[in-house]
Amino acid sequence: MRLPAREQAELAGQRLYHFHGGLRLRHNKEVSCRSPLRRSRLPPRLYVPLLQHAGEPASALVVPGQLVLKGEAIARFEQPVAGFLHAPTSGSIAAIARHAISHPSGQEGLAVIIRPDGRDQWCALQPVVDWQTAEPITLRQKIGEAGIVGLGGAVFPTSAKLSDAHDKTIHTLIINGAECEPWISCDEMLMREQAARVIAGAAILQRATEARQTLIAIEDQMGEAGERLQAALDAFQANSRHDGRNASGQEQIRMVKVTTIYPEGGERQLIQVLTGLEVPAGQRPTDLGLLCQNVATAAAVADAILEGKPLVERVVTITGSGVHQPANLLALLGTPISDLIEQCGGYRQDAARLLLGGPMMGYALSSDANPMIKAANCVLVLNHADIAAEHPELPCIRCGECARVCPSILLPQQLQWDIRNGLLADASAHGLDACIECGCCDFVCPSQIPLTQWFRFGKAQWQQQLQEQSAATLARQRFEARELRLAAADQQRQQKLAQKRQSLKERRSRQPGDET
Ligand code: SF4
Ligand code: SF4
Repeated sequence: MRLPAREQAELAGQRLYHFHGGLRLRHNKEVSCRSPLRRSRLPPRLYVPLLQHAGEPASALVVPGQLVLKGEAIARFEQPVAGFLHAPTSGSIAAIARHAISHPSGQEGLAVIIRPDGRDQWCALQPVVDWQTAEPITLRQKIGEAGIVGLGGAVFPTSAKLSDAHDKTIHTLIINGAECEPWISCDEMLMREQAARVIAGAAILQRATEARQTLIAIEDQMGEAGERLQAALDAFQANSRHDGRNASGQEQIRMVKVTTIYPEGGERQLIQVLTGLEVPAGQRPTDLGLLCQNVATAAAVADAILEGKPLVERVVTITGSGVHQPANLLALLGTPISDLIEQCGGYRQDAARLLLGGPMMGYALSSDANPMIKAANCVLVLNHADIAAEHPELPCIRCGECARVCPSILLPQQLQWDIRNGLLADASAHGLDACIECGCCDFVCPSQIPLTQWFRFGKAQWQQQLQEQSAATLARQRFEARELRLAAADQQRQQKLAQKRQSLKERRSRQPGDET
């Protein structure tokens, strides 16, 4: 008899908690887990977008015609913590040109286009020789240089998160393997096939953050992945000291199974499930001494530290009812999505919609010319039957279902009303920023209101309004400062004039006496 995750965790001494709302969804993960993880083939061209995460695009460090080796830096982000983009293979730079860039806006952007030479030759790699005794700052710097970002979908630069953590005391590092969105199985496949990499990365991150303990959270339904991860963990810990601590004196790593409920893999929800702590709106997990990193990020960290390899590839799930042979591929960044679909048997005849990401949080792509990016955990091809259930939007009937399932304890119907009526300040006051765009409210809404789309739109509008307000405030402050400067200069001039007049008057009044 298999015990539920909560009982299993409690038997292992780890209490689990609940978060508000959430949904039990059909998973459909098994379809892409039937075949083993395989490496994607080298395409004729790689398109590496200069915009890969929030913030400004990177600046290219290469020029057309230049030869590059795999792993060489080809672009640098101006934000100091965001690091570099690296050549995913060796070859020559064909162009730096506008191309589809797999961005939610659907707009094109600049991409470095690489013509592979077929040799896939790495540049000189510099691993950290003995990471167990290396200074945490050395590890953090190396992770930044390797261009590693959160591979769970948020793509926030990992070194920025680690730097933030460095300024605070981190007691618990959470490695997130609770991949709860339907259809996506790239993390499960990574833990099943490359468990040792994940464990090594978790241990390195523990040293980099100086966290007292590390918890690796996986879903209770990931049978084989859980077993392999536990075996890799046991093997790793057999080499550590026997008093429950590693060579750095930190407590050892533990694996915890959590109940599969969407969106349990969300950072704040997982923290609540594992610790019972709610991260207050406007604060970060690091403010509570917690840091969360995805399992794929941990594996990328292991590559960077143990082998000196920057982030040039990732596991992506190619799946959906509209693709012939769903699978997980280890694909180079910049590979066109059309190429990946082809390697999975191509489109079925009834393929109707292409999404980057899962059905809940993903976004539609207008074309499969879009390339693999660091954020791409899943390419989902839906068929006509999947989208047939969609009906035209109806008015809100105030049933309250959306509030019942909202994991951020918001009132989605109220937020949507605020945004629809242009009351963005009200939406912000009602917690718009706390919305994690999980799509639970859309899923249950009987009126088929695209609530999450409204929240994405509202957030973008509110940010723009805040930027415009701060620009206007800055302009007003500059104008007032100038007025004050001019008034002070004028006052000075008047004083000097008055002094001059006074001294002239005094000289004139002294003149008759001088003559006598
Ligand atoms: S679920 Fe839809 S219809 Fe019901 S209250 Fe929310 S927005 Fe309105
Ligand atoms: S999308 Fe936002 S408002 Fe809707 S359920 Fe998720 S967190 Fe709540």
